[in-house]
Amino acid sequence: MKIVVLKFGGTSVGTIAKIKKVAEIIKQYRKKKFSVIVVSSAMSGVTNGLIKKSKNISSDFVSHEYDTLVSSGEQVACSLIAGRLNHLGIKSRSWMAWQIPILTSGQYKNSRIVKIYTNKIIRYLKENGVPVITGFQGINNNNRVTTIGRGGSDASAILLAKYFKAKRCIIYTDVEGVFTTDPNKLKKAKKINVISYEEMLEMASLGAKVMQPVSIQDARLNRIDVEVKSSFKNKSGTLITKKSNISNNKIITGITSTNNDAKVTLIGVKDKPGVAASIFKPLSKNQINVDMVVQNISANGKETDLTFTIKSEDLIKTKKIIEQNKDINFRKLLLKKDVSKISIIGVGMVTTPGVTFRMFQSLARKKINIQVISTSEIKISVIIDRKNIKKALLALHKEFNLNK
Ligand code: ADP
Ligand code: ASP
Ligand code: MG
Repeated sequence: MKIVVLKFGGTSVGTIAKIKKVAEIIKQYRKKKFSVIVVSSAMSGVTNGLIKKSKNISSDFVSHEYDTLVSSGEQVACSLIAGRLNHLGIKSRSWMAWQIPILTSGQYKNSRIVKIYTNKIIRYLKENGVPVITGFQGINNNNRVTTIGRGGSDASAILLAKYFKAKRCIIYTDVEGVFTTDPNKLKKAKKINVISYEEMLEMASLGAKVMQPVSIQDARLNRIDVEVKSSFKNKSGTLITKKSNISNNKIITGITSTNNDAKVTLIGVKDKPGVAASIFKPLSKNQINVDMVVQNISANGKETDLTFTIKSEDLIKTKKIIEQNKDINFRKLLLKKDVSKISIIGVGMVTTPGVTFRMFQSLARKKINIQVISTSEIKISVIIDRKNIKKALLALHKEFNLNK
């Protein structure tokens, strides 16, 4: 059997007309004699709408019901796709994760897929059917419905490709592929033909929403090639694959930006062992994700300043937790809510000196102040005022020759 996994994201199934288009795409693969496994996300906006409803019921909506609720959008989309395929004379049915089953472990809202049973789906494929499987969903040891994190249908598709040994795994979305930066933020962004798992993972983790980070980790671990392409235009997309398949002379592959960060600075914190732990322990207990952390060298050996970033929506909660924390002393608390993280990513920077300098210089030329810096082997991230994001993206895109 020549199996292909086709995943359709929310915007690809956002309207009835688009669902009809998706059915036509599926039909094309059938014509080419592929056994097709379809994975779908919920129609665009549906998951957000369900989350909003849960918040209106309770600010602390119980997590097992949250998963049952928010995963329901996928059921609707899958049955509509299967219904349309039947209309076109193609045998098809929807499958909820529990019917397969797709087993997960871990906590509600953020479970991980640990096993996918294949026998029922294989039998159905042999009967010439097209299974349309809910992305994002799973089921745990207690037979409860789980979800695998926002944007999780990407991971569902990649792991289905793994368990069914698919020849191809194609992520259909609303853009033509992975671009040098978000094409909806910068018109000059260019489509990347091939990108390594490592670079894609950094880009996804640093804000390129086009792929969910966990899914790229799964693809890398299992060496699954992933194609990202448009549901609306019949054009070649982006291949995500291993480094050795790529020859490329670009220093920087892509640039990402975020738009919901906030910065917290504690001035005059006692410089002694255990202080950082005392600051971050209650934050982690309250599910507040801390991103970049910078601690200055203590000038007098007694006090230091500590800066970190969090999501904007966590700012009020963070302020309260720090002010009520009896285990720490500091002189002043500074909060800044409108900051963004801009990052340049590329394996080329490992072997090319001067990349950091070029990044800082081109931001300085535009009079953009850098507030926090963090680097890893293949990325440099800085925090800047959110109002400067567009200017910074333009400058860096040009500086690293991504316009061509
Ligand atoms: P889907 O509904 O198909 O899962 P998403 O909304 O999750 O789609 O991802 C697609 C979106 O990702 C695009 O509309 C685009 O705005 C955004 N995006 C961010 N960074 C990039 C990038 N580097 N390349 C392509 N798209 C990007
Ligand atoms: N519908 C889910 C979400 O909006 C999963 C996905 O889109 O992949 O997060
Ligand atoms: Mg997505």
